[in-house]
Amino acid sequence: MKDIKCFEQGPIRPPSEAYSLLLRITRNCPWNKCEFCHTYKNTKFSRRPLKDILDEINTISEIKDKITALSMENGYKGEVPLQFIRQIYAGDFTEAERSIGAWLYASAKSVFLQDANSIMLPNNELVAILNLIREKFPKVERITTYGRSKTIAKRKSFEELKELKKASLNRIHIGFESGSDAVLKLINKGTSAKDHIDAGKKIKAASIELSEYYMPGLGGRRLLKEHALESARVLSEINPDFIRLRTLVVLPMMSLFKKIESGEMELANEVEVIKEIRILIENLNECTGRIVSDHMLNLLPELEGPLTDKQRLLDILDRFLSLDEHVQQHFRLGKRAGAYERLDDMNDAETYKKVEAALQNVLSTGPNALDNAIYEIANSFI
Ligand code: SF4
Repeated sequence: MKDIKCFEQGPIRPPSEAYSLLLRITRNCPWNKCEFCHTYKNTKFSRRPLKDILDEINTISEIKDKITALSMENGYKGEVPLQFIRQIYAGDFTEAERSIGAWLYASAKSVFLQDANSIMLPNNELVAILNLIREKFPKVERITTYGRSKTIAKRKSFEELKELKKASLNRIHIGFESGSDAVLKLINKGTSAKDHIDAGKKIKAASIELSEYYMPGLGGRRLLKEHALESARVLSEINPDFIRLRTLVVLPMMSLFKKIESGEMELANEVEVIKEIRILIENLNECTGRIVSDHMLNLLPELEGPLTDKQRLLDILDRFLSLDEHVQQHFRLGKRAGAYERLDDMNDAETYKKVEAALQNVLSTGPNALDNAIYEIANSFI
Protein backbone atom coordinates (compact mmCIF):
# COMPACT_ATOMS: atom_id res chain seq x y z
CA MET A 1 0.00 0.00 0.00
CA LYS A 2 2.79 2.44 -0.83
CA ASP A 3 0.93 4.47 -3.43
CA ILE A 4 -1.02 6.83 -1.18
CA LYS A 5 0.52 10.04 0.12
CA CYS A 6 0.63 11.11 3.75
CA PHE A 7 -1.71 13.61 5.34
CA GLU A 8 -1.02 16.41 7.73
CA GLN A 9 -1.57 16.30 11.49
CA GLY A 10 -1.14 18.95 14.17
CA PRO A 11 0.60 18.47 17.53
CA ILE A 12 -2.30 18.18 20.00
CA ARG A 13 -5.91 17.17 20.58
CA PRO A 14 -8.08 17.03 23.70
CA PRO A 15 -7.64 13.83 25.77
CA SER A 16 -11.22 12.85 24.91
CA GLU A 17 -10.30 12.82 21.21
CA ALA A 18 -7.63 10.14 21.64
CA TYR A 19 -9.51 7.78 19.31
CA SER A 20 -10.62 10.42 16.80
CA LEU A 21 -9.35 10.94 13.31
CA LEU A 22 -7.23 14.11 13.50
CA LEU A 23 -7.81 16.36 10.54
CA ARG A 24 -5.72 19.51 10.41
CA ILE A 25 -7.73 22.31 8.83
CA THR A 26 -5.72 25.26 10.17
CA ARG A 27 -2.12 25.31 11.34
CA ASN A 28 -1.06 26.43 14.83
CA CYS A 29 -2.68 29.16 16.92
CA PRO A 30 -3.67 32.64 15.67
CA TRP A 31 -3.33 34.07 19.21
CA ASN A 32 -0.33 32.16 20.51
CA LYS A 33 0.24 34.45 23.48
CA CYS A 34 -1.16 32.58 26.50
CA GLU A 35 1.63 32.55 29.04
CA PHE A 36 1.13 28.96 30.21
CA CYS A 37 1.10 27.51 26.69
CA HIS A 38 4.13 26.49 24.67
CA THR A 39 2.47 24.17 22.18
CA TYR A 40 2.71 26.48 19.18
CA LYS A 41 5.61 28.70 20.24
CA ASN A 42 7.83 29.75 17.34
CA THR A 43 5.21 28.73 14.81
CA LYS A 44 3.03 30.87 12.60
CA PHE A 45 -0.69 30.51 12.21
CA SER A 46 -1.95 29.75 8.72
CA ARG A 47 -5.12 28.63 7.03
CA ARG A 48 -4.86 25.61 4.80
CA PRO A 49 -6.33 25.92 1.30
CA LEU A 50 -9.81 24.38 1.26
CA LYS A 51 -8.89 22.27 -1.76
CA ASP A 52 -5.98 20.66 0.12
CA ILE A 53 -8.24 19.77 3.03
CA LEU A 54 -10.93 18.29 0.79
CA ASP A 55 -8.28 16.35 -1.16
CA GLU A 56 -6.98 15.03 2.13
CA ILE A 57 -10.43 13.81 3.21
CA ASN A 58 -10.70 12.02 -0.13
CA THR A 59 -7.25 10.50 0.40
CA ILE A 60 -8.21 9.28 3.88
CA SER A 61 -11.35 7.77 2.40
CA GLU A 62 -9.23 5.93 -0.20
CA ILE A 63 -6.92 4.60 2.49
CA LYS A 64 -9.92 3.48 4.52
CA ASP A 65 -11.35 1.65 1.48
CA LYS A 66 -8.02 -0.06 0.82
CA ILE A 67 -7.66 -1.21 4.42
CA THR A 68 -11.25 -2.47 4.39
CA ALA A 69 -10.56 -4.40 1.15
CA LEU A 70 -7.38 -5.86 2.65
CA SER A 71 -9.34 -6.85 5.73
CA MET A 72 -11.84 -8.73 3.53
CA GLU A 73 -8.99 -10.49 1.71
CA ASN A 74 -7.51 -11.59 5.03
CA GLY A 75 -10.78 -12.93 6.39
CA TYR A 76 -11.48 -10.09 8.84
CA LYS A 77 -14.84 -9.25 7.20
CA GLY A 78 -13.95 -5.61 6.60
CA GLU A 79 -13.22 -5.01 10.30
CA VAL A 80 -9.91 -4.06 11.88
CA PRO A 81 -9.49 -6.30 14.94
CA LEU A 82 -6.40 -6.29 17.16
CA GLN A 83 -4.67 -9.01 15.16
CA PHE A 84 -5.06 -7.05 11.91
CA ILE A 85 -3.90 -3.72 13.35
CA ARG A 86 -0.82 -5.54 14.67
CA GLN A 87 -0.15 -6.79 11.13
CA ILE A 88 -0.54 -3.25 9.78
CA TYR A 89 1.93 -1.85 12.31
CA ALA A 90 4.43 -4.65 11.69
CA GLY A 91 4.05 -4.64 7.91
CA ASP A 92 5.12 -2.47 5.00
CA PHE A 93 2.60 0.37 5.54
CA THR A 94 2.98 4.14 5.57
CA GLU A 95 2.40 6.24 8.68
CA ALA A 96 -0.84 7.52 7.11
CA GLU A 97 -2.09 3.97 6.59
CA ARG A 98 -1.16 2.97 10.14
CA SER A 99 -2.92 6.02 11.46
CA ILE A 100 -6.12 5.29 9.53
CA GLY A 101 -5.83 1.61 10.50
CA ALA A 102 -5.68 2.67 14.17
CA TRP A 103 -8.71 4.91 13.68
CA LEU A 104 -10.65 1.99 12.16
CA TYR A 105 -9.51 -0.28 14.99
CA ALA A 106 -10.92 2.31 17.42
CA SER A 107 -14.24 2.06 15.54
CA ALA A 108 -13.85 5.25 13.43
CA LYS A 109 -16.75 7.05 15.05
CA SER A 110 -15.23 10.49 15.70
CA VAL A 111 -13.25 13.22 13.95
CA PHE A 112 -11.40 16.13 15.53
CA LEU A 113 -10.62 19.21 13.45
CA GLN A 114 -7.20 20.65 14.38
CA ASP A 115 -5.48 23.06 15.32
CA ALA A 116 -6.09 25.62 18.09
CA ASN A 117 -8.90 27.78 16.73
CA SER A 118 -10.27 26.22 13.57
CA ILE A 119 -13.71 27.61 14.29
CA MET A 120 -12.33 30.91 12.92
CA LEU A 121 -12.57 29.61 9.32
CA PRO A 122 -15.35 31.13 7.23
CA ASN A 123 -18.55 29.13 7.63
CA ASN A 124 -18.74 28.13 3.98
CA GLU A 125 -15.35 26.40 4.29
CA LEU A 126 -16.25 24.68 7.55
CA VAL A 127 -19.54 23.49 6.08
CA ALA A 128 -17.80 22.12 2.96
CA ILE A 129 -15.36 20.20 5.20
CA LEU A 130 -18.11 18.85 7.46
CA ASN A 131 -20.26 17.84 4.50
CA LEU A 132 -17.46 15.88 2.86
CA ILE A 133 -16.61 14.13 6.15
CA ARG A 134 -20.25 13.14 6.49
CA GLU A 135 -20.40 11.94 2.87
CA LYS A 136 -17.18 9.92 2.99
CA PHE A 137 -17.56 8.54 6.52
CA PRO A 138 -21.29 8.09 7.14
CA LYS A 139 -20.62 6.07 10.31
CA VAL A 140 -18.92 9.00 12.03
CA GLU A 141 -21.08 10.08 14.98
CA ARG A 142 -19.09 12.99 16.39
CA ILE A 143 -17.15 15.85 14.81
CA THR A 144 -15.52 18.33 17.19
CA THR A 145 -13.04 21.20 17.15
CA TYR A 146 -11.29 23.76 19.33
CA GLY A 147 -12.56 27.35 19.40
CA ARG A 148 -11.51 30.48 21.26
CA SER A 149 -14.27 32.23 23.21
CA LYS A 150 -13.30 35.59 21.76
CA THR A 151 -13.58 34.36 18.18
CA ILE A 152 -16.98 32.80 18.80
CA ALA A 153 -18.27 35.76 20.82
CA LYS A 154 -17.19 38.39 18.30
CA ARG A 155 -16.99 36.66 14.95
CA LYS A 156 -19.54 33.84 14.80
CA SER A 157 -23.22 34.59 14.73
CA PHE A 158 -25.84 32.33 16.27
CA GLU A 159 -27.08 31.56 12.72
CA GLU A 160 -23.60 30.48 11.66
CA LEU A 161 -23.29 28.17 14.66
CA LYS A 162 -26.70 26.71 13.83
CA GLU A 163 -25.48 26.12 10.29
CA LEU A 164 -22.41 24.29 11.65
CA LYS A 165 -24.60 22.19 13.90
CA LYS A 166 -26.77 21.28 10.92
CA ALA A 167 -23.64 20.25 9.04
CA SER A 168 -22.80 17.91 11.98
CA LEU A 169 -20.39 19.85 14.14
CA ASN A 170 -21.31 18.20 17.43
CA ARG A 171 -18.99 19.70 19.99
CA ILE A 172 -16.70 22.68 20.56
CA HIS A 173 -13.82 22.47 23.04
CA ILE A 174 -12.93 25.81 24.60
CA GLY A 175 -9.78 26.68 26.51
CA PHE A 176 -11.76 28.45 29.23
CA GLU A 177 -8.91 28.35 31.78
CA SER A 178 -10.60 30.88 34.11
CA GLY A 179 -13.69 33.02 34.52
CA SER A 180 -11.71 35.66 36.41
CA ASP A 181 -10.69 38.70 34.36
CA ALA A 182 -7.71 39.20 36.67
CA VAL A 183 -6.45 35.66 35.97
CA LEU A 184 -7.20 35.92 32.25
CA LYS A 185 -5.14 39.11 32.19
CA LEU A 186 -2.33 37.57 34.24
CA ILE A 187 -1.91 34.77 31.71
CA ASN A 188 -2.62 36.96 28.68
CA LYS A 189 -5.53 34.87 27.45
CA GLY A 190 -6.81 37.64 25.21
CA THR A 191 -10.37 36.77 26.22
CA SER A 192 -12.63 38.15 28.94
CA ALA A 193 -15.17 36.56 31.26
CA LYS A 194 -17.86 38.26 29.17
CA ASP A 195 -16.49 36.68 25.97
CA HIS A 196 -16.64 33.29 27.71
CA ILE A 197 -20.28 33.86 28.66
CA ASP A 198 -21.32 35.21 25.24
CA ALA A 199 -19.55 32.41 23.36
CA GLY A 200 -20.70 29.67 25.70
CA LYS A 201 -24.33 30.71 25.67
CA LYS A 202 -24.34 31.06 21.91
CA ILE A 203 -22.89 27.57 21.43
CA LYS A 204 -25.42 26.05 23.80
CA ALA A 205 -28.29 27.92 22.16
CA ALA A 206 -27.18 26.47 18.81
CA SER A 207 -27.45 22.98 20.40
CA ILE A 208 -23.75 22.27 19.96
CA GLU A 209 -22.16 20.43 22.89
CA LEU A 210 -19.77 22.57 24.86
CA SER A 211 -16.65 21.43 26.62
CA GLU A 212 -14.92 24.06 28.80
CA TYR A 213 -11.38 23.45 30.04
CA TYR A 214 -10.84 24.89 33.50
CA MET A 215 -7.24 25.14 34.69
CA PRO A 216 -6.82 24.48 38.43
CA GLY A 217 -3.88 26.40 39.89
CA LEU A 218 -3.89 29.16 37.27
CA GLY A 219 -4.53 31.99 39.75
CA GLY A 220 -1.58 30.97 41.90
CA ARG A 221 -1.92 31.60 45.64
CA ARG A 222 -2.90 35.27 45.34
CA LEU A 223 -5.84 34.77 42.99
CA LEU A 224 -6.78 31.24 44.04
CA LYS A 225 -10.14 32.13 45.55
CA GLU A 226 -11.07 34.66 42.89
CA HIS A 227 -10.12 32.17 40.15
CA ALA A 228 -12.41 29.52 41.64
CA LEU A 229 -15.32 31.83 42.51
CA GLU A 230 -15.36 33.82 39.29
CA SER A 231 -15.01 30.65 37.24
CA ALA A 232 -17.94 29.15 39.14
CA ARG A 233 -20.01 32.27 38.45
CA VAL A 234 -19.22 32.31 34.71
CA LEU A 235 -19.60 28.55 34.24
CA SER A 236 -22.91 28.63 36.11
CA GLU A 237 -24.19 31.21 33.62
CA ILE A 238 -23.08 29.08 30.68
CA ASN A 239 -24.00 25.62 32.02
CA PRO A 240 -21.63 23.75 29.67
CA ASP A 241 -22.02 20.04 28.94
CA PHE A 242 -18.54 19.33 30.26
CA ILE A 243 -16.21 21.14 32.64
CA ARG A 244 -12.87 19.49 32.08
CA LEU A 245 -10.02 19.89 34.53
CA ARG A 246 -6.46 20.34 33.30
CA THR A 247 -4.14 21.25 36.17
CA LEU A 248 -1.47 23.91 35.64
CA VAL A 249 2.17 22.88 35.40
CA VAL A 250 4.66 25.61 34.53
CA LEU A 251 7.77 24.71 32.55
CA PRO A 252 10.84 26.96 32.19
CA MET A 253 10.13 27.54 28.49
CA MET A 254 6.72 29.13 29.29
CA SER A 255 6.50 32.90 29.74
CA LEU A 256 4.59 32.35 32.98
CA PHE A 257 7.78 30.90 34.46
CA LYS A 258 9.32 34.40 34.48
CA LYS A 259 6.38 35.69 36.56
CA ILE A 260 7.04 32.96 39.09
CA GLU A 261 10.77 33.70 39.17
CA SER A 262 10.09 37.42 39.64
CA GLY A 263 7.58 36.72 42.43
CA GLU A 264 4.64 38.21 40.49
CA MET A 265 2.95 34.84 40.77
CA GLU A 266 3.32 32.26 43.52
CA LEU A 267 2.26 28.75 42.62
CA ALA A 268 -0.26 27.00 44.85
CA ASN A 269 0.72 23.52 46.01
CA GLU A 270 -1.25 20.39 45.11
CA VAL A 271 -3.32 20.36 48.29
CA GLU A 272 -4.23 24.03 47.85
CA VAL A 273 -5.25 23.27 44.27
CA ILE A 274 -7.59 20.53 45.48
CA LYS A 275 -9.11 23.08 47.90
CA GLU A 276 -9.52 25.47 44.96
CA ILE A 277 -11.38 22.83 42.94
CA ARG A 278 -13.62 22.31 45.95
CA ILE A 279 -14.48 26.03 46.02
CA LEU A 280 -15.22 25.88 42.29
CA ILE A 281 -17.55 22.89 42.49
CA GLU A 282 -19.26 24.07 45.66
CA ASN A 283 -20.13 27.36 43.96
CA LEU A 284 -21.37 25.99 40.64
CA ASN A 285 -25.10 26.62 40.57
CA GLU A 286 -27.73 24.90 38.49
CA CYS A 287 -25.14 23.22 36.31
CA THR A 288 -26.39 20.02 34.74
CA GLY A 289 -23.24 18.97 32.86
CA ARG A 290 -20.37 16.75 33.99
CA ILE A 291 -17.06 17.31 35.65
CA VAL A 292 -14.41 15.41 33.72
CA SER A 293 -10.90 14.83 34.99
CA ASP A 294 -9.30 13.20 31.97
CA HIS A 295 -5.91 14.91 31.95
CA MET A 296 -2.89 13.09 33.35
CA LEU A 297 -1.80 16.23 35.22
CA ASN A 298 -4.82 16.02 37.53
CA LEU A 299 -4.23 14.55 40.97
CA LEU A 300 -7.70 12.99 41.32
CA PRO A 301 -8.86 11.36 38.07
CA GLU A 302 -11.77 9.83 39.97
CA LEU A 303 -13.25 13.31 40.34
CA GLU A 304 -15.74 12.72 37.56
CA GLY A 305 -19.48 12.75 37.36
CA PRO A 306 -22.65 14.75 36.87
CA LEU A 307 -22.94 18.11 38.60
CA THR A 308 -26.50 17.18 39.45
CA ASP A 309 -24.84 15.04 42.14
CA LYS A 310 -22.50 17.74 43.41
CA GLN A 311 -22.24 16.23 46.88
CA ARG A 312 -20.64 13.08 45.48
CA LEU A 313 -17.93 15.18 43.83
CA LEU A 314 -17.38 17.20 47.00
CA ASP A 315 -17.12 13.96 49.01
CA ILE A 316 -14.25 12.77 46.78
CA LEU A 317 -12.40 16.04 47.39
CA ASP A 318 -13.16 15.96 51.13
CA ARG A 319 -11.91 12.42 51.36
CA PHE A 320 -8.51 13.53 50.05
CA LEU A 321 -8.47 16.72 52.12
CA SER A 322 -9.27 14.86 55.33
CA LEU A 323 -6.31 12.51 54.95
CA ASP A 324 -3.38 12.92 57.31
CA GLU A 325 -0.71 15.15 55.69
CA HIS A 326 1.71 12.23 55.36
CA VAL A 327 -0.91 10.08 53.61
CA GLN A 328 -1.66 12.99 51.24
CA GLN A 329 2.06 13.09 50.42
CA HIS A 330 2.04 9.33 49.98
CA PHE A 331 -0.88 9.47 47.54
CA ARG A 332 0.61 12.41 45.63
CA LEU A 333 3.85 10.53 45.04
CA GLY A 334 2.08 7.25 44.25
CA LYS A 335 -0.25 8.96 41.78
CA ARG A 336 2.51 10.86 40.02
CA ALA A 337 4.70 7.75 39.85
CA GLY A 338 1.86 5.77 38.25
CA ALA A 339 1.28 3.42 41.21
CA TYR A 340 -2.17 4.86 42.00
CA GLU A 341 -5.14 6.16 40.05
CA ARG A 342 -7.73 6.32 42.79
CA LEU A 343 -7.60 6.88 46.53
CA ASP A 344 -8.83 3.30 47.03
CA ASP A 345 -5.67 2.02 45.33
CA MET A 346 -3.85 2.77 48.60
CA ASN A 347 -5.66 -0.26 50.02
CA ASP A 348 -3.27 -2.58 48.18
CA ALA A 349 -0.78 -3.38 50.95
CA GLU A 350 2.06 -4.42 48.67
CA THR A 351 1.89 -1.27 46.54
CA TYR A 352 1.46 0.89 49.64
CA LYS A 353 4.68 -0.53 51.08
CA LYS A 354 6.63 0.20 47.90
CA VAL A 355 5.31 3.76 47.56
CA GLU A 356 5.98 4.40 51.26
CA ALA A 357 9.60 3.24 50.86
CA ALA A 358 9.99 5.58 47.87
CA LEU A 359 8.40 8.44 49.84
CA GLN A 360 10.76 7.96 52.80
CA ASN A 361 13.64 7.99 50.37
CA VAL A 362 12.48 11.23 48.74
CA LEU A 363 11.67 12.95 52.07
CA SER A 364 15.09 12.11 53.47
CA THR A 365 16.78 14.23 50.79
CA GLY A 366 15.40 17.61 51.88
CA PRO A 367 12.34 19.69 52.79
CA ASN A 368 11.22 20.46 49.21
CA ALA A 369 12.26 17.11 47.81
CA LEU A 370 8.72 15.78 47.36
CA ASP A 371 7.46 18.86 45.51
CA ASN A 372 10.59 18.82 43.34
CA ALA A 373 10.22 15.13 42.56
CA ILE A 374 6.54 15.57 41.66
CA TYR A 375 7.34 18.62 39.54
CA GLU A 376 9.95 16.60 37.60
CA ILE A 377 7.47 13.78 36.98
CA ALA A 378 4.69 16.20 35.93
CA ASN A 379 7.13 17.95 33.57
CA SER A 380 7.70 14.73 31.73
CA PHE A 381 3.93 14.55 30.99
CA ILE A 382 3.83 17.74 28.90
S1 SF4 B 1 -5.32 30.06 22.57
FE1 SF4 B 1 -4.91 27.94 23.18
S2 SF4 B 1 -3.34 27.22 21.76
FE2 SF4 B 1 -3.39 29.46 21.61
S3 SF4 B 1 -1.80 30.15 22.98
FE3 SF4 B 1 -3.73 30.13 24.14
S4 SF4 B 1 -3.82 28.09 25.12
FE4 SF4 B 1 -2.24 28.02 23.51
